[in-house]
Amino acid sequence: MNNGLKTGELEPDVPPAHEAFSRRLSSVQARIGQALADAGREATSVHLLAVSKTFDAPAVRELAACGQREFGENYVQEALDKQQALRDLPLEWHFIGPIQSNKTRAIAENFSWVHSIDRLKIAERLSAQRPTGVPPLQVCIELNVSGEASKGGVAVAELPALAQAMSALPGLQLRGVMAIPAPATDIAAQRAAFRQVREAFEALIARGYALDTLSMGMSADLEAAILEGATIVRVGTALFGERNKHA
Ligand SMILES: *Cc1c(COP(=O)(O)O)cnc(C)c1O
Repeated sequence: MNNGLKTGELEPDVPPAHEAFSRRLSSVQARIGQALADAGREATSVHLLAVSKTFDAPAVRELAACGQREFGENYVQEALDKQQALRDLPLEWHFIGPIQSNKTRAIAENFSWVHSIDRLKIAERLSAQRPTGVPPLQVCIELNVSGEASKGGVAVAELPALAQAMSALPGLQLRGVMAIPAPATDIAAQRAAFRQVREAFEALIARGYALDTLSMGMSADLEAAILEGATIVRVGTALFGERNKHA
């Protein structure tokens, strides 16, 4: 391969993979910054969660080397393997996938945040299994505003009861609401779904819950989510590239 170097010359010390990650991260940060400016919101009011599912530990390490600290994972065993390989880095791990009862202990012991709680039984297990001596698990309730029965998340009508029951659990700190609305191509439709999430979130705050987290918006719709008040956007493809289909 001709890389433009004469034989015996040193390899460039910044490999192309690093440049690609750095460029994609800057581009996502610029999109977030522009959406915040358009919304008239403070420049630091959104956290970027890098969704690394299906990408390997070296890819996460590259993005971490660009300054990214918060990573989201959907599959427990895959996440534990990556955490082990990257334990020398000061990363914060968020679990964002569907939760099976037999995986709650691994999640309670190895993550700082869980975004995808939609059943009290799962919340109770996570709380009971959260180790003592570490901060409570920071959690969001997943809300289903698309009415798709096949998808996770509670209906808006069930949200207050679940929030009330969860806020009594000592191992959890309820921070807010997460949603994955059905994909829509036009921004008006995207915003309409995110607005429903925000309204449900604000209704909980009006009931007296101290919540600060609205986890919504992905690679294709983060602008609409930020215009509707998102405080965490969960971005995979725009940072890591296209995923191979996961089994
Ligand atoms: C995969 C995934 C994302 C990231 O989606 P992209 O379209 O790749 O940005 C965000 N949130 C959840 C819950 C996911 O499963």
